[in-house]
Amino acid sequence: MGGKQKKKMHALSTDPIYIGTGGYTIGRVDNTIVRDTITKIPKIPGSSIAGTWRYYMALELQGWFKKNFKAIKNVLDGNEIAVATNDIRELVNRLADKELNDIERTNFNKRAAKFKKYSKMIDLAKNRGCVKNEKSSCDDRQENHNWQLYWGNLISSIKCAGQDDKPNESHEYSLDFQEISDTGHCGHCIICKTFGFSKKNKSQQGVAFFSDLNILLFPVYTRLGVKWITSPYILESAEIEVKFLDSNLNTEEETKSPWEKLKALLEDDTVIIVKGSNKKSNQGYINLGWLNLNAKNENILLGIPELIGEDLWQGISGNLVIVPDSLISQIINSNLEVRTSVSIDPLTGAAKKGALFTSEAIPRGTAFYGDIRLIERQGEDLPSIDDIDKALLDSKKYYECLGIGGMVTRGFGRLKMYLS
Ligand SMILES: [Zn+2]
Repeated sequence: MGGKQKKKMHALSTDPIYIGTGGYTIGRVDNTIVRDTITKIPKIPGSSIAGTWRYYMALELQGWFKKNFKAIKNVLDGNEIAVATNDIRELVNRLADKELNDIERTNFNKRAAKFKKYSKMIDLAKNRGCVKNEKSSCDDRQENHNWQLYWGNLISSIKCAGQDDKPNESHEYSLDFQEISDTGHCGHCIICKTFGFSKKNKSQQGVAFFSDLNILLFPVYTRLGVKWITSPYILESAEIEVKFLDSNLNTEEETKSPWEKLKALLEDDTVIIVKGSNKKSNQGYINLGWLNLNAKNENILLGIPELIGEDLWQGISGNLVIVPDSLISQIINSNLEVRTSVSIDPLTGAAKKGALFTSEAIPRGTAFYGDIRLIERQGEDLPSIDDIDKALLDSKKYYECLGIGGMVTRGFGRLKMYLS
């Protein structure tokens, strides 16, 4: 068919986010984070998102197998198919459609038998960092989602996430294998096909392409409390609708785009406090961090998606400030979270001499935007875009407990991911 789909991706950090550059810079901070090369605004690179999502989709699939492995084994053993649920019956039927030979069937069977001992590891990984009362939300399979039943998934293992440690094996190798820990990327399952794989005799580009997550709204302390800043360029790039509620601004310059109008309202040292939600009397100036700026109050409606829908979102949407494109990078960069840590000498257990280091991070409460493009190619054996879409939806919850980037064990990296 060759279908195409673009999903909008939004995220809200619930921890500081640290995606390191791996290098050290001379200056205020030792461990620096990834930035846009032109604007110098920090971002979460698409490669980090693809890497973590691949892992989370593998976790979700293996979690599903764990729940169902008894039934799968039963059917593969040749026992009465009636004991299996509809799901399992369908999975086995799909396998049968592939006309697997007896040896391959036996291999799947042995794999199912070995699954039990290794399912503990999956549980550990799934629950690491999960807050107890959130756990239930990590466990529900959505109605009508049956991407788990894609035929190649029975060959899948947690090894389909991470780096392929068997890239020089053939594409058929995983069909023959018997040890779960021994395949590298299997090259058949929905994970390998969504994110791509490369074996000795066959490579396939993934179906899903992840953009960077760029900052949409960034929290800054001001004397009026925390404000979330953005800029005309960011709003335009994120395709956020801007409506001017004061009619005099509406009638003027109809040829200009709303983002152009915003730019015209801002001067180099002037920001716009978005009125409507903030009913305080007009402010003549505002400090954003250490920067003191003139402030205009305008009645503007920003079509920012309801990321949270709850109290937290009210707090953000009621405290928006639009700053000039020329200042946004500077304001963000001078209001990053900076943490000081110390290296411990493993031999003495004490702090190493001179081992104090600082790390910068994107603060919690930052909102991001990006997109995922799903591109189906003709003539390839691929899961449907709809299945991939649902697999992404079902596995994004792991961002809330396992997070992204570095220092996740030190309270960094968790975020809420939204797809629309
Ligand atoms: Zn795979």
